Amino acid sequence: MPRGITPRRPAKTGRHEAANLKPLRGQLAKARNPRERQPPRKSGGASKSKGYDPIAPERVAEILRRLDQLYPGVTCALSHKNPWELLVATILSAQSTDVRVNLVTPEVFKKYPTVEDVAKLEPHQLEPDIRSTGFFRNKSKSVVGAARRIVSDYGGKVPENMNDLLTLPGVARKTANVVLGTWFGKAEGVVVDTHVHRISRRLELTKNNDAKKIEEDLMLLIPRQKWILFSHQVIWHGRKLCLARSPKCVDCPLENICYAEDKTWSTVGKHRGAKA
Ligand code: SF4
Repeated sequence: MPRGITPRRPAKTGRHEAANLKPLRGQLAKARNPRERQPPRKSGGASKSKGYDPIAPERVAEILRRLDQLYPGVTCALSHKNPWELLVATILSAQSTDVRVNLVTPEVFKKYPTVEDVAKLEPHQLEPDIRSTGFFRNKSKSVVGAARRIVSDYGGKVPENMNDLLTLPGVARKTANVVLGTWFGKAEGVVVDTHVHRISRRLELTKNNDAKKIEEDLMLLIPRQKWILFSHQVIWHGRKLCLARSPKCVDCPLENICYAEDKTWSTVGKHRGAKA
């Protein structure tokens, strides 16, 4: 397990009570105004008893550095050959797994090779083909609706900008960010799926629960050139180690800078259920 930072000791009064923290949103609001930004600290971060700052620039940079080491060059796990296939796969991946979607999409694209083919369908005709991904009625409406809009309004081509993508049925910022980042290489935002949501909170990069607010927080903390890769890395981390129910903290290279309440193993403090 990589260790480059001396683990901080928990404050005697408990990790959250001892910290003389300003509210995270207040920090982020300051970050919006460069004149109010604090100069970066030289050390690896204040001790908790002196005002642990989870969004200190050097802590965020260390998280990014370790993610780079752990998941270099990772990308989207959804199989696709063009932006339309990626859009469909991302719509189908809601409340499902990439493995399940990758089992379903090859047959769908074999049966309906182009966006025009899908646009000619009635939603119920697609339902049997995507049934196993769950929520298949809504997903069928979204996929067929998106195909029709792409054919009627965008000349059969998946739009390359956020505003146009958001006009497509079933497409919100998460899906749009996946397509823009993964296919077009455009960093318009940060993908916030269930993994990014959970891990951003565990790493205290946000205190929010709403995906849009989490994305805003991450966009302020993470350098823009890292937005696309960061999303992929955190999603992989969520699949491999930082699992929802029982994170594998003992194997996690971020462990000694992570103070998540639900850690299962810890060198940095007392966590409920954690073993030191
Ligand atoms: S130490 Fe545990 S909770 Fe923290 S990031 Fe790693 S796996 Fe997740």
